[in-house]
Amino acid sequence: MKKILLIGVCFWAFSLFPFLEVYSDDEKIFALVNLSSLDNKVVDHARKFAELNLSVPVHMLELDEPVSGGLDKQAQAVSTLFSSNHLAVVALVEPSEKTKHHGLIVYSNKVAVINVPSLKDGTEDHQQYQWRLDRQVIRSFGFLAGREYCSNPSCVLKQYRTLKELDQVGRNFCPPDAQKFRKEAKVQGAQFLPRQ
Ligand SMILES: [Zn+2]
Repeated sequence: MKKILLIGVCFWAFSLFPFLEVYSDDEKIFALVNLSSLDNKVVDHARKFAELNLSVPVHMLELDEPVSGGLDKQAQAVSTLFSSNHLAVVALVEPSEKTKHHGLIVYSNKVAVINVPSLKDGTEDHQQYQWRLDRQVIRSFGFLAGREYCSNPSCVLKQYRTLKELDQVGRNFCPPDAQKFRKEAKVQGAQFLPRQ
């Protein structure tokens, strides 16, 4: 049975940089897919924010066919994009079956989907919404690389139950998690961007 993690209220619980055009077989990259109606600017903000804070390149991938169905169907479709060059693939989706789950992680496939409409709930504040998306992308890459929930309220990996709580957690890894992420991602073959 696939090990999955539901994110959210119901869970308690190519060519990005011109100088990085060629990759060796053992260097893996993180990838983001937009299957939602989100504006490109919003998606690119989340991508760049992840790059800046994780210090890893995050490439955009595209899926040829539109996907319908719930989060599990979306995750299944996104899994087809995963290749040996990837360390993790995260997708922004709009499930046709309404659910309050904020997302789904399929660890066995190294894939996560983020339920975009569920994060919109309760805010007309663009920045607040953007930051929710940014947090979810970073969290998803973190979990897929091997990180777990963190008790530090300033850490983006802090467990939350409501969007209000999500709005209160930090937007980056705490220093120990940042260090562990780097170590774990390196072992898995991640390449890193020069520190800025
Ligand atoms: Zn932490």
